[in-house]
Amino acid sequence: LVARMRGFGTTVFAEMTALAVRTGAINLGQGFPDTDGPAKLLETAVEAIRGGANQYPPGPGVPELREAVAAQRSGRYGLTYDPADEVLVTVGATEAIAATLLALCETGDEVVLFEPYYDSYAAIIALAGAVRRPVTLRPDGDRFTFDPAELRAAVTPHTRLILLNSPHNPTGTVFSRAELEIIADVCREHDLVAVTDEVYEYLTFDGAEHVPIATLPGMRERTVAISSAGKTFSVTGWKTGWITAPPHLVRAVQTVKQFLTFTCSAPYQRAVAYGLGAELDWVEAQRASLQSKRDRLTAGIQAAGLTPLRTQGTYFVQADVRPFGFTDGLEFCRVLHERAGVVAIPAQVFYDSDAGDPYVRFAFCKRDEVIADAAARLSRVAS
Ligand code: PMP
Ligand code: GLN
Repeated sequence: LVARMRGFGTTVFAEMTALAVRTGAINLGQGFPDTDGPAKLLETAVEAIRGGANQYPPGPGVPELREAVAAQRSGRYGLTYDPADEVLVTVGATEAIAATLLALCETGDEVVLFEPYYDSYAAIIALAGAVRRPVTLRPDGDRFTFDPAELRAAVTPHTRLILLNSPHNPTGTVFSRAELEIIADVCREHDLVAVTDEVYEYLTFDGAEHVPIATLPGMRERTVAISSAGKTFSVTGWKTGWITAPPHLVRAVQTVKQFLTFTCSAPYQRAVAYGLGAELDWVEAQRASLQSKRDRLTAGIQAAGLTPLRTQGTYFVQADVRPFGFTDGLEFCRVLHERAGVVAIPAQVFYDSDAGDPYVRFAFCKRDEVIADAAARLSRVAS
């Protein structure tokens, strides 16, 4: 294994799901729903296969999906993208992140990102030969945010881009317009690209508004926005994502993407194009259902005696495990599995610093009875 990849080992998600499967534990670790997406969406993929969508589609994506993505960005956010040269379909958001960072970072370039960060960010930054400069999100009351001075201090003459994720995994923070303005100011002042991971764009709660940073003044021309169908339609196994960006940035990302995977699975593209146009009522119902699941798990964490953090979006709620006498989320997760048969993710795996040590991430994108069962078991960990 090349030096730059050493230390990355197996992802925490694969490890934790394997542990749950092996031991029959309740899996609130890896974020995937335990129910299917809309029936007609699934049927559309099956029909696409039966209808012959089984050979290589065009490298940048099938025209109907690129058009559907452009229509979605325009209808929902008022952002206009030309499907011909400003939309690129990718193998999930994961390939979009990889191709974007590999396309934009020279060896030694610095990437400013917020910790805790989604695990693939660090690995791809390393693979690109770039250097990560984390800015820590810290609890302000029960919501995580950043200190603008720390963000500014993280920027150096070597900074190439700012990588952000909102709604944010694992804290559940939805960056406010004011927070995004601060990030946008830094991008404009230092001529940086913003790479924004918006895979949870539809999954916000209590009226929290997802604001794409590309909608802020002067940002559309310097933003690569990434999203994917997995979370929106509960089809995480479909691995169908996309970027929207100005033509020069799409060209750069496509130059890399064409040699990573060339193109993406054809039948799912047809189905996702259908979904973006026709299944938004289903998505809204799913969002409302996730909000009530968030409420149930948050209440269960509270009732058990742990401290839940506020989550404004995503599939996840974090708990502070110190009320149970733990200072280390990894140790808590070990005991949680052993005594309660529940798998969760220690937040520290998403950090460079030790700021995440007392937090544990639970996924609530599960059936209500699974959430209730897991919540009831939490108190077994009290020491
Ligand atoms: N970004 C974030 C923040 C995620 O939580 C995930 C996991 N769903 C991804 C990217 C990867 O998305 P995909 O499965 O579409 O590759
Ligand atoms: N995004 C999901 C999570 O954060 C899982 C993704 C993965 O398994 N790589 O749990």
